[in-house]
Amino acid sequence: MDIVFNCPNCDQEMAVDQSGAGTEIECPSCGETITIPLNGKVTTGSLPAVTPPPSPLASPIAASAAAKVPLHLKVPVRDKPGESLIDKPKPPLEVVQKGAGKKLRIHTIRRAACIESGHDKFDEKVTAFLQEITETNLVGIHTVSYEMFSVEVQKIMTDYGVIIVYRG
Ligand SMILES: [Zn+2]
Repeated sequence: MDIVFNCPNCDQEMAVDQSGAGTEIECPSCGETITIPLNGKVTTGSLPAVTPPPSPLASPIAASAAAKVPLHLKVPVRDKPGESLIDKPKPPLEVVQKGAGKKLRIHTIRRAACIESGHDKFDEKVTAFLQEITETNLVGIHTVSYEMFSVEVQKIMTDYGVIIVYRG
């Protein structure tokens, strides 16, 4: 029967004949003087973990793996997602950024509001507005018709206008 134990210094797994129990030996791995336990340690469970030593080549991987540990730890640290959840309204901001920092807006122009001194300036007003926002920011134009009370003719008349959807 061999006593299987691990070096308390470097965790190197070793198997020694039971007759050597209690005697001091030099760890073949790290040179540390260790005492052979009377019984195989329960550390057997950690034996698999000792497997890495023979694979110093894998040390880079192990190192990177170890390096990843803190990263994994950082994930939980994201207990701040609570904040990010609050910041969820940010997605709209990204959308806005796509629109070059502009927001979707609408501008309604009613023909009746373009009557100046009896002259219908509707086309001019719409044209002027379109030139103002430029074609790049124009999303769409929708016509609307509505009823309004005309003071001039003292009755309800149907009029029209446009709703311009744009980014600005
Ligand atoms: Zn050792």
